[in-house]
Amino acid sequence: MEIDKARQRKARHYARQKLVFSLLDLVLLLTCLTLTIATGLDKLLRDQLYMAVLWAPILTWHPFPGYYPAQLVAYFAIAFCGYCCLSLPLAYLRYRLSFRYGLALIDGSTWLHDTGKNLLLNFALQAGALLLTYGLLASQPHWWWLWLALLLLLFSIIMTNLAPVLIFPLFYRFKPLPEGELNQRLLELARRTATRVQGIFTIQLSHRTTAATAALMGLGNTRRIVLGDTMTDRYTIDEIEVVLAHEIGHHVHNHIWKMLFSQGVLTLAGLSLTHLFLRWLMDNQNMYFSLTDPATIPLFALLVVSFHVLIMPIRNTLSRHMEYQADEYALQVTQKVDAFKSVMRRLASQNLTEIVPAPLVEFWLYSHPAVHRRLRHADEFAERLLSSSYASASFKSCNRAATSSTGPSGMVNSGSSTPHSAH
Ligand SMILES: [Zn+2]
Repeated sequence: MEIDKARQRKARHYARQKLVFSLLDLVLLLTCLTLTIATGLDKLLRDQLYMAVLWAPILTWHPFPGYYPAQLVAYFAIAFCGYCCLSLPLAYLRYRLSFRYGLALIDGSTWLHDTGKNLLLNFALQAGALLLTYGLLASQPHWWWLWLALLLLLFSIIMTNLAPVLIFPLFYRFKPLPEGELNQRLLELARRTATRVQGIFTIQLSHRTTAATAALMGLGNTRRIVLGDTMTDRYTIDEIEVVLAHEIGHHVHNHIWKMLFSQGVLTLAGLSLTHLFLRWLMDNQNMYFSLTDPATIPLFALLVVSFHVLIMPIRNTLSRHMEYQADEYALQVTQKVDAFKSVMRRLASQNLTEIVPAPLVEFWLYSHPAVHRRLRHADEFAERLLSSSYASASFKSCNRAATSSTGPSGMVNSGSSTPHSAH
């Protein structure tokens, strides 16, 4: 399959507009947090909460000195809702953009329903992380950052294990891949690569999006390979086999564990820097009552968001390296270079992905190598395959010559076979 030029033009326009929305999102968040701190709104909100203690005595509850969970949750809930009101119009415009480009298929009410579920889930997870952070700040003021990094790593491991059975079913339905040639071929591939995964599932996406996807998800007893029905319905068996081999490549190289631990190291680095900054702030400024003052929440959020943006290239470079390894594995296991290239082109066309994105955008934001690099990788693999098969053919013909030289006339022929070994 050749690259569809009209579709690529559309992909370029879409990528540009999506990037503008992502930047606007980030600018809005950073501006809101900076203005909240600079205008003193962070302390005003805390003071209002202190006054609210009169009619909500729960706000004074503190299980140990310096730790007021109800105040923290109330403060965070107000800030979270305020920001949601400001950012929801932008989120809706992003959804309309993907709808206009034919990628999203859901209607406005389903989008609102999904967004509501997402926000509730995010609120619960972020409020939990906040309570844990401030509990540690109050009880372990010197080592809170180390404990927090370790507990977050443990939480990530548990969530990675539970996500396929707890989180994803909130949004998608999984079904085991039906019996048939595809199933047989994929099971044979899993057997050949000695892969122990808990099944191959299809995920129903076709009523929501036209984009195709596949993933390896879960850990241990929940580890599974998931193929979107937008892929199983439209791609050839060879193409799906290559995609599955790529996912098995992630499994074989232990990429989920590597990602979890590298994320853990980055979190540890970020939290230790935050600790040093907060110490300096407390020693030199009089902005807050203490480290556990609820008014520090916007400052904390600003530090976390800024660090997240700054380390994105590191995370994505690591991720792109892992994707390269999974591609290499898929090519080696299947040796189906044409199917690999055709699936890359088809995915780019179907998902409106730019084949050659701007280098800076790729460096900062792309978790996968750009499609043109993946196509080149396949070509390089084909060249390697050709030269190694040529080398092994030469080796075989050399061996045959050496074998035929045995016997009474061997002494003569063995001399004449020497030039063959030089090929
Ligand atoms: Zn991958």
